[in-house]
Amino acid sequence: LPVSIIAALPIVRRLQEHHYEAVFVGGSVRDTVLGLPVKDVDIATSARPEQVLKLFERCIPTGLQHGTITVIHDSVSYEVTTFRQESVYEAHRKPESVLYITDLEGDLLRRDFTMNAMALTDKGELLDPFGGLRDLKRGTIRCVGDADSRFQEDALRMLRAIRFIGVYQLSPALQTWKALIRHRGLMKYIAMERVQAELDKMLAGEAPQRGLHFVADSGLLLYLKEPFLEETERLLKGNYRSKNPVMLFSRLNQLKSVDLRWAAIAIGTNMSLEAVLHMLRVLRFSNNRIKSITAIVAIHKEILMHAEETDERKLHLSWISAIIRYGERSAIEWLEVARTISEPQQTLPADLLTRLADWLNKMPISSLKQLDVCGNDLTAHVKRPAGPWVSEWLNKLLLMTASGGLPNKRMQLIEQAIKWDEEDNNHE
Ligand code: ATP
Ligand code: MG
Repeated sequence: LPVSIIAALPIVRRLQEHHYEAVFVGGSVRDTVLGLPVKDVDIATSARPEQVLKLFERCIPTGLQHGTITVIHDSVSYEVTTFRQESVYEAHRKPESVLYITDLEGDLLRRDFTMNAMALTDKGELLDPFGGLRDLKRGTIRCVGDADSRFQEDALRMLRAIRFIGVYQLSPALQTWKALIRHRGLMKYIAMERVQAELDKMLAGEAPQRGLHFVADSGLLLYLKEPFLEETERLLKGNYRSKNPVMLFSRLNQLKSVDLRWAAIAIGTNMSLEAVLHMLRVLRFSNNRIKSITAIVAIHKEILMHAEETDERKLHLSWISAIIRYGERSAIEWLEVARTISEPQQTLPADLLTRLADWLNKMPISSLKQLDVCGNDLTAHVKRPAGPWVSEWLNKLLLMTASGGLPNKRMQLIEQAIKWDEEDNNHE
């Protein structure tokens, strides 16, 4: 057994000492079977929530109405959920009420896919009434029971299916896939936050391109409460259907962070900046994430505009001002994205990227904070009343310094400002 499961054994044992049944369930069992690192360990038990609460010192009644208690043991939280059956589902999502039951198999029956409906005992024995292990070995994702009803009950399961397909590189069982296509119209019942969470997990996984392929093939995203992707969906479809598929998606998993992957998709499908912003807002991304993803896309658009530039100096300056505008971190991230999607059908030649990276490395400073003068220095030495010229000149000095045209030395920067002042005066 993996260490994180072993660490949770005392909880299971404690329940058993009190004559309750208790087993490991869910993702931790699936990942154990696959030999993958186990994330959160979930426990299912015949004990009622109030009985669970009595047995453990540190617990939080997280989802009391659904029978879930969070038990904290050695500073790790575990979800302990009473065996249950789900009754009528409300609006194709949450069960209206749950019914506590005493047998494990009934509890496994309510779960979404066979690979998620396995249990592991404290002795390391696998309980697998629906053939989850066989399906996993074949690389198949299959609904527990009748796929049509499972997707109708809870439409989120369709998106979970696609997420798991991407993360574990699976293929859907035929009936599961047919049912998914039949019921994709129910996607409109799913909260956009949930859509984001699933897409994020899918993209963060091992085979994001496979997930995207199934996203496109299923057309799921065309049926959302707030659709956003019609254009991109079509592009994705175009990419996968064309004889000469754009390779960029096959390299997505070389990008370390999921936000870089989002940016790469936006760039690869040639979305406009407005479309990217709209997509991220509709998906309820945080402002911070929106900012860093759109910065990468914006840098790409700017560099594309100047990529044909034959005048080295102009190209250099436009790159330096993009770095100043969007920040060094975003510039580095963009380079990473651009390198990943640049070959073989690329938008930007590899040697251009090398040159840009080189210029970035040689950049002495990239922000006003690092400049050796401030606004007060300028107003003290240049004899004109404070005004918008101060920040204008600071930015000009920054650009000159950042591009290597001027050393970042207080006296020299001030001299340059005085020179500009004299030039202006001579003109008048
Ligand atoms: P991960 O934690 O990696 O996201 P998971 O399968 O553990 O994947 P959870 O949301 O933690 O997903 O749920 C734990 C278990 O609860 C699942 O393995 C599954 O058995 C069951 N489950 C979760 N969501 C649903 C659902 N929408 N319908 C049916 N069963 C579900
Ligand atoms: Mg889980």
